[in-house]
Amino acid sequence: MITLRGILIWASTNRWLRERAVRTRFVRRSVRAFMPGEQIGDAIEAAVTLKAAGISAIFTKLGENITQSAEAAGVYAQYIDMLARSTAAGLNADISVKPSQLGYDQDSEACFAYCADLLHACEARGVRFWIDMEGSSSTQGTIDLFVRLRRESAMVGIAIQAYLLRTDADIEQLASLGSAVRMVKGAYLEPEGVAFADRSQVDEQYFASCVRLLQPDAARAGALLHIGTHDMKLQERLLDYVRENGIPPSRYEFAMLYGINMPRQRALAQRGERVRCLVAYGEHWFPWYMRRLAERPANLWFVVRNLVRR
Ligand SMILES: Cc1cc2nc3c(=O)[nH]c(=O)nc-3n(C[C@H](O)[C@H](O)[C@H](O)COP(=O)(O)OP(=O)(O)OC[C@H]3O[C@@H](n4cnc5c(N)ncnc54)[C@H](O)[C@@H]3O)c2cc1C
Repeated sequence: MITLRGILIWASTNRWLRERAVRTRFVRRSVRAFMPGEQIGDAIEAAVTLKAAGISAIFTKLGENITQSAEAAGVYAQYIDMLARSTAAGLNADISVKPSQLGYDQDSEACFAYCADLLHACEARGVRFWIDMEGSSSTQGTIDLFVRLRRESAMVGIAIQAYLLRTDADIEQLASLGSAVRMVKGAYLEPEGVAFADRSQVDEQYFASCVRLLQPDAARAGALLHIGTHDMKLQERLLDYVRENGIPPSRYEFAMLYGINMPRQRALAQRGERVRCLVAYGEHWFPWYMRRLAERPANLWFVVRNLVRR
C-alpha cells in the first residue's frame, strides 16, 4: 500500500527533488523548525540555550551516503572542529555520525579509522561518540563497526531500531557487551519481511528492548540506555518501570530531536531527568528533513500552509 510516509521517505532519496527543494525559500524556511541553522556556530548557539534549560546536546552534521571516499576526510575534520568548539563553549555535548557519511560503503577500514579517532577525541573530553543506524542493508555492518569500536572504549554508543524483526537478538548481544544503546523506532522505509508493519508491535519491541538494557547484568557490563523517542506514553511507561525497579538515574537518559516537543524536553529536565537534544546542522539536510516530515503528517501541512501564505 502506498502511504504518505512511503512517498516522503522515497522523496528523501530522490536527487531531482533534493536539488530543487533545497533552493526553494519556503522549504529552507520550514526546515528551520527542526534545525537551528546550517553552520556549526548555529548548532553551538542552540546548545548553549538548551544548557540553560538543563538540557544537554548531541551534535550531528547532516549528510549521508557520500559517493567518494575523499569526502569522508572533510566530514571527519568538521566533527573534530565541532568537538573543539563545543568544549570551548563549555558544553559537554556528544556527537553522532552516520557510517555512510564517513565512507563506510567505499572503504570500511578507513571509516573505522575515522570513527576510532573521533571516539578517542570524545573520550578525552568525557563525551560520547554515537553511531546512527541507517537502512536495514547496513544494519549488520554498523553493528560490526560498533563492536570493534566498543573494544577501544566504552564511550561509543549505537542507535538500534525497534521496528526491525532482528532487534531482539541484536539487543541481547549489545546488552551482554555492556553497550550504550539509543533505542529509536526507526525512520526508513523497510520491506515487511524485515520490519514490523504494525506500530503496536514496534512499541512493544521498543519497551522490551529498553527493559533488557536496564537489567542488572547489562548494567554491570556498563550498558547505558538512551530513550530516543518523543512518544510520551512510552516514556512514561519506562519511567514507571525505572521507579518500580529502583533503576539508578545513571543508567538512562532521554534523547529527543531539536524542534520536536520542546516543552516536553524542558519538562523532563525540570523533573530531574537527564535529557539530551540532538541538534543537527549542515547544508545536506534534505533527506533528513523528509524523514522528519514522514514521521508526522501534520508537519507536511505546516509546510503547505507556509507555501500558501507566501
Ligand atoms: C535522538 C534521536 C536519534 C535518532 N536517531 C535515529 C537513527 O539513528 N536511525 C533511525 O532510523 N531513526 C532515528 N531517529 C528517529 C526515530 O527512528 C523515529 O523516526 C522518530 O523519533 C519518530 O518516532 P518517535 O519515537 O518519536 O515516535 P512516534 O510514535 O513516531 O511519535 C510520537 C509523537 O512524537 C511526536 N513526533 C514524532 N516525530 C515527530 C516529528 N518529526 N515532528 C513533530 N512531532 C513528532 C508526535 O507528537 C507523535 O505523536 C532518532 C530519533 C531521536 C529522538
